[in-house]
Amino acid sequence: MSIAPKNNGLGPVKQVRPKTEGWTQAKDAEGRPLLQFASPKRGKPPTHLADLAHDERIAKLKDAGLPGFRAKQLETHYFTHYTSDPAKMTDLPAAQREEMASALLPSLLTEVRRLTTDDGRTIKFLWRLHDGALVESVLMRYPGRITLCVSSQAGCGMNCPFCATGQAGLTRNMSAAEIIDQVVRANAAIKAGELGKAEHADERVNNIVFMGMGEPLANYKSVMSAVRTMVAPQPEGLGMSARGITVSTVGLVPAIKKLADEDIPVTFALSLHAPDDTLRDELIPVNSRWKVDQALDAAYEYFEKTGRRVSIEYALIKDMNDHAWRADHLGEKLNQRGRGWVHVNPIPLNPTPGSIWTASEKSVQREFVRRLEEAGVPTTIRDTRGKEIDGACGQLVATAEEQAEAAAMAPTA
Ligand code: SAH
Repeated sequence: MSIAPKNNGLGPVKQVRPKTEGWTQAKDAEGRPLLQFASPKRGKPPTHLADLAHDERIAKLKDAGLPGFRAKQLETHYFTHYTSDPAKMTDLPAAQREEMASALLPSLLTEVRRLTTDDGRTIKFLWRLHDGALVESVLMRYPGRITLCVSSQAGCGMNCPFCATGQAGLTRNMSAAEIIDQVVRANAAIKAGELGKAEHADERVNNIVFMGMGEPLANYKSVMSAVRTMVAPQPEGLGMSARGITVSTVGLVPAIKKLADEDIPVTFALSLHAPDDTLRDELIPVNSRWKVDQALDAAYEYFEKTGRRVSIEYALIKDMNDHAWRADHLGEKLNQRGRGWVHVNPIPLNPTPGSIWTASEKSVQREFVRRLEEAGVPTTIRDTRGKEIDGACGQLVATAEEQAEAAAMAPTA
């Protein structure tokens, strides 16, 4: 199929290449775009009960010479009261509380900074991990639901030029418990009344999106272990619904296939951003490994196997990928595979440091959506939150000032 610009009835077709100042695609020895799949080796974070299955938690207590049957009480404190503080565990023998908590609930995330916007309904947390690595999560209250955008890696190795995290490189993979602890800490903040006006008692995070720092499918094992703990019934896990969990990927095809074969029907999102390889090769370096059609086939396979409608994310970048003909082309590519299996989520580009790319004009956004809907593809522009606090999609990166602040803090125990 031709991908040449068609006359779209909106005047002459523009294909302006915005300058990507300061960015040239890094290449490896064979001239392929540089991607970092392997996590650099750093000291492992301490093992936490959220890294372990129930039986392993019991065994860990026993190994430490502590009563194994207490594991359930520790799980209850952590997964239902959202606390790791031994002083609050008054149902445990006072003499052993500290020891039990340090065996199964070591401190993983130290809060460095918290920024709030939207009348307190959006919070961006900056966390320091045990080795000084920094990650962020963004908590958002919407009518009837609370969403947490979690990080799965400190940094990211996928090198997308329009994403601040991608430009910072990969520091390391996060452990399952470091991922889970972001949710537990967010639940603790909600419970303490820190996320704007509560709608009812017993509120907690009910939507999780793996759209913070990192490429979740490049840290597959820990991400899946965290997802299993999220859906495990309380008190052994967080008791969440798999439907409320969205895994978003840049398009690691073998891992998408693996995900489709898991027995957990999470919501799946593919960051496509261009329907043609010519442009996607430039915007998404991983397109050098798996092409648009391979990524879309894998997304369709995910729908076929799980029955869950998939999302296509599409950052709308002015004069780069927002042409009406590209909307048509995307509609054709999706419809070639079937109907009713997908919806498109355009995201007006959020600004990132050093990039002169900007969001598409409103009228262009509307036309992009209209074309897709005309093709029968449900399309909704994503309401991105947290732009004022650099907490929106693609903006998560610790600034030099934040890094200095974190470094000045006392080391964690
Ligand atoms: N690595 C995963 C999750 C990352 S972020 C992935 O690529 O899907 C979640 C979404 O934000 C992705 O679709 C990503 O492409 C998008 N994004 C990145 N930078 C952005 C920016 N500056 N503006 C808008 N969306 C952006």
